[in-house]
This record gives sequence, structure tokens and C-alpha cells, in this order.
Amino acid sequence: MGFISLGCPKNLVDSEVMMGLLDRAGARLTSDVAQAEILVVNTCSFIDTAKQESVDTILEMARHKTSGSAKKLIVAGCLVERYRDEIMKSIPEVDAVIGTGELEAILAAAGLSSPTPSAAMSPFNILSGAQAAVTHPGKESQSGTHKHGEVLKGHGGVPFGPRAENATELTGALAPEGGLSVTTNFRPEGNLREQQGRFTREDWQGAAHMLPTYLYDETTPRFLTTPRSSAYIKIAEGCDHPCTFCVIPNLRGKFRSRRFESVVAEAQSLVARGVEEITLIGQDTTCYGEDLGLKDGLATLLDVLARIEGVRWLRFLYAYPNRITGKLLETIAKHDNICKYLDVPLQHASPAVLKTMKRGAGADIFLKTIEKVRAAVPGIALRTSFIVGFPGETVQDIEILEQFIQAAKFDWLGVFSYSDEEGSGAFSFNEKVPKRTIEARKRRLMKLQQSISKQAKQQWVGRELVVLAEGESEETPLLWEGRTQFHAPEIDGKVYINDFAELGPDVTTLEPGRFYRAEITEAHEYDVVARVLSGPL
Ligand code: SF4
Repeated sequence: MGFISLGCPKNLVDSEVMMGLLDRAGARLTSDVAQAEILVVNTCSFIDTAKQESVDTILEMARHKTSGSAKKLIVAGCLVERYRDEIMKSIPEVDAVIGTGELEAILAAAGLSSPTPSAAMSPFNILSGAQAAVTHPGKESQSGTHKHGEVLKGHGGVPFGPRAENATELTGALAPEGGLSVTTNFRPEGNLREQQGRFTREDWQGAAHMLPTYLYDETTPRFLTTPRSSAYIKIAEGCDHPCTFCVIPNLRGKFRSRRFESVVAEAQSLVARGVEEITLIGQDTTCYGEDLGLKDGLATLLDVLARIEGVRWLRFLYAYPNRITGKLLETIAKHDNICKYLDVPLQHASPAVLKTMKRGAGADIFLKTIEKVRAAVPGIALRTSFIVGFPGETVQDIEILEQFIQAAKFDWLGVFSYSDEEGSGAFSFNEKVPKRTIEARKRRLMKLQQSISKQAKQQWVGRELVVLAEGESEETPLLWEGRTQFHAPEIDGKVYINDFAELGPDVTTLEPGRFYRAEITEAHEYDVVARVLSGPL
């Protein structure tokens, strides 16, 4: 089987779950699409460009079926939630579609059956065999656009390799509860939003009526595709926020958290497999546990995970601005192994735009939050992203945003062009901003950030930091690429390593996935250069 995963890390985890299920049922996964009898495309449909990329990839895979090299084509993911019937109707090569809430249906679609659980079968079946054979997933670049893998004409795809001979099953600390979990817990806020029509798909002809409720748990097999030392854990799914530009809640359903013990058990299992960097993800990680009745759920979870021996770097992505509590910041500051890194997509800074986006707040409030964050966690790296060209956005709104970017001095910043999505609140808004204006505004903001980033990176020169060596540079084998705790996987700038002579005359290479102490020697706009001082640590 060949597997192509598009979109964000949350979709990547879904792909890993489907591959884990397939692997456990006896399927052989290959990274060579020409060899695969069954092809699966796990799609993204967040914005226009993502949809286009998904459709292009499906059509490209359909050619393998027409040529006879593949016998089945399965389409999974967000595009299915949105255009279920249309995909089947318009692309006759597609044999089956699987929504985001139906991951286990991949087995039936592939013609496999789920193995009967036996006493010998471990509840922890986290497989890592594909790690060596997999290219990196798509990422948000500094420009806010998606940069994608190299395979399949340079767009989108992450083809997954065969399970290595030595892939093993794990036994974790908790007793299995059996099967795949379906939660029934929702936040009162989510139920209210449902009554208000937040999750409606009425405008979406051919979409399924049922919203997804699926959540994987620690008993679900996962086939890890990230580099050996790093893994994502999805701690929650869905979103209850009313942001008017966003259709993710319509695609992914109401917010629901994984059980606390399940996340801890998965983290323990990953560490037992050699993972040292854990990145917690969800549409909104800062709401974690609210549906389970937990107060300060994310802070409590981080506090427990940070105590697991072997966790070197722990971080979470996608914070909602008004949920950055004192307790959360205290927890980040308290543990050396919680990365001093906060990703908080703010979307805009003009109060008028944020109001129509149904997010509220504005530059003044955000600056106070940033001040609080920096006071509580000195040296913390801040990442954010903005949307430009939201309906009704004026020149004054952009000036407010520019002044805010100037004042806030983010370490990492992405700018996205507004994408008009059917089913979103803003789809019916008037005063749409012309595409050319949107692109000009985006360029202006990125240019501003470029100069802020360049100045900030200069301050890094001379610092000694721990760097995770990720592999030889894609640009030249003379350089290695790595990251510090201030860089999240796949999304921020890079550390280029050009010198490791200090390790001794016999050392001719670094070990990918190992941590080294290094000194920053040069700074560029987004990237820095380092020389290794000692390691691996
Ligand atoms: S917080 Fe807003 S932008 Fe983010 S997933 Fe939820 S609705 Fe979409």
C-alpha cells in the first residue's frame, strides 16, 4: 500500500493511525507509489490552495490506477468531509472515501479485516518502522504558505515507506480498554454552538450529515512517520470557537479531549521507543480537558508529561490567546524540558477585524498578554500567524496590524491570504478584498517581519544552545540542518551546522535525531549558522 498525507500535523497523526491499523492487519506499506496496489490519499481542505493540492494529488494517483499499476484508490480526510459524494461522482477511479471520523473504515476499504485481539497482542502497538523511509510532511513557511514534500511533483505528499524488520510492539503502563474510543463528552459551549448552527453543513451538498466524533487512544496502533526522536501527540480534536473565516469545526466536529491517562500512556510508550521530543497538537490545545471537567487541563497535562524520564523537549502548538493562563505560563517556566516556545495564532490585531472574525480583543490586549508571557517565561520564543484580506479589512486595519507587528516583535510569523470558504460565517459577508490587494498586503507584512527577524536573530550570535541534528541539508551535503527548543518541527527557521571539528578528527558526520551543544556563529533573516561544541548529549 502507498500512503500520501497532505496538510497539517493533525492530519499526519490521522495518517499514522490509519497506517498503524493497516500494518496491524497485515498490509505492507511502501514508499514507492508505482509499487503500491492500493493507494490512499489523506487530504486537506482547509483553504482553497489546500483543496486544489488535494484534488491534483488524487488525480495524479488516479493515473496509477488507469495505467494498471494500482488496483484501488482510497481518498480520506477533510476533503471527504466536505465533498464526499462529489469525489465519488467526479473521479470514478476512487473506490472508497473515508471521513475524518471513520479512520478504522480504512481496513474494509482496503479489503482487510481487523485482527481479533488476542492475549498476546499488546495494547501499545506504536510502530516506528517507516521513520527512515519517509520525507517530511508539508509545512507552513515563513511566508505563511505551505511548503510541501519533494515527492509527487513537489507537492504535498508524504509517501510512507515499508515497515522495517525491527519494528516492534510496545507494552505500556496502562491496561487496555479495548477498541477505538468514541467520546460522548462535549463542552456546554460546543453544544450551544451546535444549537446556533456553528457546525451545520446545510450549504454543503453531498457532505455527510453526521459530524465526526472519533478520537484515537493509547490502544490504537500508530505507524510513526516523523524522524526517530520526535513525535506528535494529538490531545484533542474538533473546535467550538466561532471564528467566521474557519470551516474546521464543520469538518472536524465539536471539541473533544482525549482522556488524560490515555495521553500520558501514549507519551510513555513513545519515550520507550526512543522519542525525546513530544509536540502536543489539537485545533485548540489550550481548551484541553474542559469537556472532561478538568481545570487548567493543559497545564496539568504538561506538568505530568514533563516528569516522564526521557522527555527532553515537550511543547504544544495552537494556543488560543485568551486561554494563556498564569498557571500555564508557570508550568512552562517551571520545567527545564518544556520548550520555551509559544505558538499563538492571533489572526489579526485590528479590533474591528477581530470583532467580525468573532475572535474579539485587539492589539492593546494582545500586547499586554505578550508582556505577561515574556515576564513569566523570560527568553520565550513566540510564534503567531495572521490572515490578511478578511472581508471589510481597510488600510487603517492593516496599519494597526503593522504597528502591532512592529511592537510585538515575534520570533516567528506567518501571514495567510484570506480564503473565502463556503460554509464559513464570512462567506456571505460583503466588501470582499480584491486578490491583488490581499497579496500586496501580505508582502508588506512579510517584509516588515523580515527586518524584525533579522535584527532578532543577530542577538543569537555567540549563544550556546542545544541543537537537535535533523540531517544533511536539503540544499547541500556540506551543511547539516537542526533545530533548537525555540524552533517547532517543520515550521520555523533552521539552524545550519557548518562545523563539528570540535568532536574530534575521527568524526566525519553527525547522528540524525541526536542532540548536540552548539554555538551560534552567524545570523541571517530567518536562519542561523552554528558550530557544534560537544555531543551527542
Ligand atoms: S480556533 Fe478558530 S481558527 Fe482555530 S480551528 Fe477553531 S474556529 Fe478555526
